[in-house]
Amino acid sequence: MTVLEATGRLRPYGVMVAPDTARVFDAIEQLGGRARFVGGVVRDALLRRDLHDVDMACDLSPEETTAALEKVGIRVVPTGIKHGTVTAITDAGAYEITTLRMDVLTDGRHAEVAFTDNWLEDAKRRDFTFNAIYCDLDGTLYDPFDGQTDLGDGRVRFIGVAEHRIAEDYLRILRFFRFQAWFGRPPIDPVGAEACRKGVSGLLDISPERIRDEVLKLLRAKSPAGTVGDMIGFGILPAILPQLSHVANLRIMQWLDSTALADPDIRPDPLRRLAALFKSPDDLDDSDVSVNIAEEFARSLRLSNAEVDRFSAMISHAPLIEANLNPDTVRRDLYRMGADRFRDATLLAWSMRAAVPPRCSQDENKAWQNLVTTAANWQPVSLPIQGRDILAAKLLAAGPKMGILLKQAEEYWLDRGCEPDRDELMNYLASHPLVASEQETQ
Ligand code: ATP
Ligand code: MG
Repeated sequence: MTVLEATGRLRPYGVMVAPDTARVFDAIEQLGGRARFVGGVVRDALLRRDLHDVDMACDLSPEETTAALEKVGIRVVPTGIKHGTVTAITDAGAYEITTLRMDVLTDGRHAEVAFTDNWLEDAKRRDFTFNAIYCDLDGTLYDPFDGQTDLGDGRVRFIGVAEHRIAEDYLRILRFFRFQAWFGRPPIDPVGAEACRKGVSGLLDISPERIRDEVLKLLRAKSPAGTVGDMIGFGILPAILPQLSHVANLRIMQWLDSTALADPDIRPDPLRRLAALFKSPDDLDDSDVSVNIAEEFARSLRLSNAEVDRFSAMISHAPLIEANLNPDTVRRDLYRMGADRFRDATLLAWSMRAAVPPRCSQDENKAWQNLVTTAANWQPVSLPIQGRDILAAKLLAAGPKMGILLKQAEEYWLDRGCEPDRDELMNYLASHPLVASEQETQ
């Protein structure tokens, strides 16, 4: 077995020191195996960030790992046995445990793998230097490609020859830019970026679901606009998602959602950022066409139905919102869209306005901010009457006129600041011409 040389230490914390984690390590050791943390958890621990999912490498086969864990009562899910991955589920979280492996055959999308007991071979098949740092339970580090230096310098560097590594798996192009957005410091590594440019046609065979996942993860980074600009500059987005081109807009959106608005309800939101970045060819010239294109785009990216709906609503509502909307219109919009959608649309409209000169004045920014605050404070209200009230009062029989009458009642109610109560509305309707004419004909 090729052993890796220890290169340093870190102080474990969070899920690394959870008792369940020790149980997972112990179980594997009891069967004569060796397990180590690797990937995101080590990288994030080196940056002292919050730790989430745990990736581990281990020198037992997936079947042995499963047996070892089940023996001590840990539930195991065979998430990717063929590729050597099983997932241990505990109260403390999930552990993705992958048997040491090397790729024997690759075609740009899938890999055929062979298991090994060679830790360096396992490291070589990983993508970036800082994703191939291993760590023992006690914090001892093994960093065969000096990923720590790259992480410290904000450099996303392929292990091996970038062009070859991309040809093995084209998804690595998107991973490269995603990690750049999260951990990179500009300028982007020109060798890696150039290799991505050369390999971009390989991305056309990658499934939309995987592209969606990567794009949304990228957009979750605090400030992804610079990297998105690189993805356009190096021909990546133009090749796979040419609609994602509005970087200036994204830049404002990320500033609003992560810096400018100290509002706990407004956080970086990948879908809202996607809407900011999205530019339909007909951008706002014909809003119906533009909404259809937006919906089609969202579907092609395999967003869920709820996400498609939210995305399309943002694109269709944003053109209706201006900084200086009068309070009556704001109330109507809030009533019709609901607070969340109104806020989405406001942020999108604000970023669109601020992305083009002249700069927003202080007063204008304040007006936008007021819209956001109004949405946050808005209490949902509903029309105090329904069709059945009109039927019960025998104002009208059921039929198409009922809808019209209700609409009129709603207008009356909205015009008066949603103040009229049930009685006032019924009085208003009783003297409505539609009711009068109906009763004449009876
Ligand atoms: P995240 O924080 O998103 O989980 P991660 O680095 O842990 O980031 P995973 O997708 O969970 O990413 O993968 C775990 C590890 O597996 C990576 O750190 C990397 O070492 C390796 N890996 C994952 N995908 C690839 C790939 N396409 N090519 C090479 N190595 C990969
Ligand atoms: Mg991970």
